[in-house]
Amino acid sequence: MLTTTKKRTVCKVLEIRKLTAETSVVRMERIGLNFDPGQYIRVGVAGDPEIRDYSVYSGSNADHLEVLVRRVEDGLVSKQLCDLSEGDEVSVGGPYGHFKLIEEIRRKPLLLIATGTGISPFHSFVESYEGLNIKLIHGTARVDEAYESDFYGESYFHCVSREEGGDFKGRVTDYLQTLDIDPDTNAFLCGNCDMIYEAFDMLQDKGLPTAQIHTEVYF
Ligand SMILES: Cc1cc2nc3c(=O)[nH]c(=O)nc-3n(C[C@H](O)[C@H](O)[C@H](O)COP(=O)(O)OP(=O)(O)OC[C@H]3O[C@@H](n4cnc5c(N)ncnc54)[C@H](O)[C@@H]3O)c2cc1C
Repeated sequence: MLTTTKKRTVCKVLEIRKLTAETSVVRMERIGLNFDPGQYIRVGVAGDPEIRDYSVYSGSNADHLEVLVRRVEDGLVSKQLCDLSEGDEVSVGGPYGHFKLIEEIRRKPLLLIATGTGISPFHSFVESYEGLNIKLIHGTARVDEAYESDFYGESYFHCVSREEGGDFKGRVTDYLQTLDIDPDTNAFLCGNCDMIYEAFDMLQDKGLPTAQIHTEVYF
């Protein structure tokens, strides 16, 4: 059982890795924070009371913490985080959440379905645990939003809705409709609520018990 620290801590930004014009990986000091892969932390610019939730992108064994942040133009915090530079300070609290790969299911088939930055907890799963049996379906509007997809190798499948390219033209739910699901599968859904509600119903219709469907809604 890992220790949960709920106090907020100020830590330094170590690196900003820009993946697209809107999305960056913010790497920061780990400050001894323990988390289980799939959990999220609350992050804000140090000294600013506005904080938001971000799934941890990095693995549980890394010596740093990373989050994958998409800039929301009319938002308050995401823009500030994407505009940070090395050496700036952020405040971090957590970890929170129950979107975890418990030991009993780590050897089972895993269907990981994400929209946009919802891929973040899956990056942490793959970086943290060796030998997972995953299929990762990632839905984005554009082709360049396949955030660091080489990391997942053959397991990664890209559904692109608004332009040609990727592995499938359309939304993740359009692709999911075409799939047969092994009844032993555990499905993890992460991202926007429209996808999650729709995919949840589809997986149930395909015979997956609700106990095998895990969700994390971002907005
Ligand atoms: C458990 C959890 C984990 C999360 N993990 C991540 C993560 O790993 N990466 C990440 O980028 N975001 C993540 N989010 C969303 C994040 O917490 C913020 O809501 C987001 O960054 C917008 O914050 P903001 O202050 O810029 O905008 P706000 O001022 O809070 O909101 C502006 C508007 O943007 C909408 N919005 C929020 N997120 C998005 C989005 N991605 N695309 C389009 N519109 C959006 C909100 O619904 C709101 O209407 C997570 C949310 C939750 C609940």
